[in-house]
Formats: sequence, C-alpha cells, structure tokens
Amino acid sequence: MTTPRIAIIGAGPGGLMTARILSRHGIASTVYDADAALEARNQGGTLDIHADTGQIALRDAGLIDDFFALARPEGQTKKLMDPAGTVLVHHVPADGEDAAPEIDRGQLRRLLAESVDASSIAWGHKLGAVESGEDGGRLLRFDNGVTTTADLVIGADGAWSTVRQALTDARPSYTGVAMVEVWFADVDARHPQIAELVGDGHMFANGDGRAIIVQRNSNGHVRGYVGMRVERDWFDRSGDGLRAALLQEFADWAPDLVRVVTDSDGEYIDRPLYALPAPLTWPHAPGVTLVGDAAHLMAPFGGDGVNLAMLDGAELARALAEEPTIDQAIERYESTMLPRSGPIAVGANRALDEFFARGEFDPADIPDFDAEAQGYKLRAAEYERTRE
Ligand SMILES: Cc1cc2nc3c(=O)[nH]c(=O)nc-3n(C[C@H](O)[C@H](O)[C@H](O)COP(=O)(O)OP(=O)(O)OC[C@H]3O[C@@H](n4cnc5c(N)ncnc54)[C@H](O)[C@@H]3O)c2cc1C
Repeated sequence: MTTPRIAIIGAGPGGLMTARILSRHGIASTVYDADAALEARNQGGTLDIHADTGQIALRDAGLIDDFFALARPEGQTKKLMDPAGTVLVHHVPADGEDAAPEIDRGQLRRLLAESVDASSIAWGHKLGAVESGEDGGRLLRFDNGVTTTADLVIGADGAWSTVRQALTDARPSYTGVAMVEVWFADVDARHPQIAELVGDGHMFANGDGRAIIVQRNSNGHVRGYVGMRVERDWFDRSGDGLRAALLQEFADWAPDLVRVVTDSDGEYIDRPLYALPAPLTWPHAPGVTLVGDAAHLMAPFGGDGVNLAMLDGAELARALAEEPTIDQAIERYESTMLPRSGPIAVGANRALDEFFARGEFDPADIPDFDAEAQGYKLRAAEYERTRE
C-alpha cells in the first residue's frame, strides 16, 4: 500500500490501540481528540481487561507486561448482595488468576497514549463533519477551524460519534436505566464501612428495578453507581431534591447499602445509559470505518465495551498492514468485527434489562464466576489457534 493518510478520530482505548499497532507496522497515522489534553477530563472508573479480547490487543501492541504491572488481579473479587444486605455470593479469584484483571480507565488510556509518538496526537480537535474530499479522500472539518483530507477515516469517537454519520443514521437511545455516580477517596481510612462493603473488587446489589454497585479503583478510590429505571430527565428534574429523591428510592434497602448514597465525597454525577440498536451493520463505504463504542455502543453489563474497542483497533491495524488496499482491509476488518459485536451487544443490553428487572430476585441469575474466567481463557487460546 502506498503511504495512506490515516486519520483516527478519538484518543480513547480504541483509537489509541489502532495508532499504536499501526506504528508497530511502520504505518503513520494522526489521532485527533476533542479533549484539550490527555488528563483534561476525569477518565472514569475501573475496567476488567479480558484474556480473549483486550489482553490479545495489548499483547499485539507489545504492552501486555506494562498492563500487568498496573493491573489489579485482586479486583476480580466480586460480592453479590440483595437489597436487605444479605451476601449471596462472595467470589474470590484463585491465586494468579489473570482472566480479567482490573485497571483504572485513566491508567489504561495513559499507557496507550504514551506508547505512540506524542506528535501524532492532535488534542483540542473536535471533529464537526466528514465530507467528500479531493482524489476520493475524505475532508475532515474540525470545530477549531482546521481542515484536512484523509484516505482513511477511522471513527473511534465513542458513543456520540460524528464519523458514524457518514455510514449510518443509527443513533444511541436511552436504555431506560440511569446511574448516579458517587465516589469515595482514601476509603480504607475515611470510609471503613464502604471499604468493607467493596472488599478488593466489586459489590453488586440489585432488586426490583434498582441497583447499588461499588468498585474499588487504585489508590484507595472507590466509585459507586446508584442505578434506577427512571425517565431520562429524572436527575435534572430532581434538582436540589436529588439526595432526598435517591433516599426515597432506596428507603427499604439495608442501611449499609444506603451509605453508598449518603456518604459520597463528591457531587452526584448523572450517568444515563445509552445503547445503539443491536445488532448494527452498515453497507461498506470506501475510506471510512468505525471501532469501539462508535460502532457498537452497548450497555456496560458484561464489561465488553473497552475490550472490544481495543480488539477492534488491533484487528483493523493488522488488516491495514496485511491487505493490499485500504478497502480490502476495511472489508476484512468489518467482516469479523460486525458479526462479533452484534450478538455481544444484544447480550449486554439484555443483561442490563435482567439486572434491572422488576420483581423478586431469582437465585438462578447468580453467575458462575469461575466458569466465566475459564471461558475467557479458552476463547483466548482458540483465538490464537485460529490466527496461526
Ligand atoms: C458507567 C459505565 C461503566 C462502564 N464499565 C465498563 C467496564 O466495566 N468494562 C468495559 O469494557 N467497558 C465499560 N464501559 C464502556 C467503556 O468505557 C467504553 O466501551 C470504552 O471506553 C470505549 O472505548 P472507545 O475508544 O470506543 O471510546 P471512548 O473511550 O469513548 O473514546 C472516544 C474518544 O473520542 C473523543 N471524541 C468524541 N467525539 C469526538 C469528536 N467529535 N472529535 C474528536 N474527538 C472526539 C473523546 O474525547 C474520547 O477521547 C463503561 C461505560 C460506562 C458509561
């Protein structure tokens, strides 16, 4: 392939992974991100990186050892509780379990960003539109007035992707579930009951359309999500009465769980959950494709979003390095990515519905976490076997 002009829109895990693996194959690209700088925004909570997807991409990127140096295998600990505060399951991972260790999203993004040439990331570039350009290329218009033409535009611009509009009219819609984010700093010293509740990993409590989730991040931070089936504008409408409204929603829950609502160190943050129609496909178009949430935004139940974003990026980069033309690379990539992500998105959206189902808790819904870990490792071995 002659030197193509490759523009990656979005410096999230998907876009940065694409750039990193392209550069390992000697292919230059430019990553454009709306953020003013790497650390301009809070990067959110903890992510489990699965052996059969995210870890494969990190290995291809030559970053797996750096990942494991930062990762928290003990974060695979999971506690399930009912609204009365009864512990239903307390899963502690086996020693050396590496099927899905945790990492802070900010740490992962920094690891990926620092693995590419700093001059190849253009911060402060919010894409406004993709238009037809000269020589069959695509003209990119950024909100800061910059324009550029690319032979290939990779939309890694997340849930509200601008690049997606060049391929499909599909838009994310509200799932009917909103999360209110809470957080706790220096939890072991300052919030011992929250530390006890979260343990080394995660605590999930759900029932009758509501949920309280807490997750341990690095450095004694804990993030929590208080979830409910509510109208999209519930948070804004609650205004100054938000705390009272939350306490009313959880009035019949155990005090140890309600502490997650009352003891937050910071302001409550509105996190409504959106998803794209699934399975989503689009007719192949020359010179443009999508990776990650831009292609398949799904409910965060299953923890697949960031893992698929990184695997998408790795596979697209590999196809670009190996295929004779950009279009053959896009076709090869999309012919794997679309049929893989569709059923996973359907499953994740269904899992959200089940987790927030109204009615009594069904013990049959308790997952087998050891089998889940085994599944990641078996599928990872299968993936490596089929690409040999
Ligand atoms: C509450 C919650 C919990 C989650 N938990 C998990 C989990 O446990 N496990 C998991 O795997 N996933 C989880 N996810 C999903 C995960 O965060 C995403 O799937 C993942 O970050 C997607 O990566 P991405 O690179 O595709 O997009 P993003 O990480 O969203 O990155 C997109 C980038 O594009 C930039 N951008 C956006 N628009 C433009 C534009 N117009 N021009 C230029 N730049 C632009 C943004 O600034 C951003 O840097 C969760 C999501 C939520 C909301």
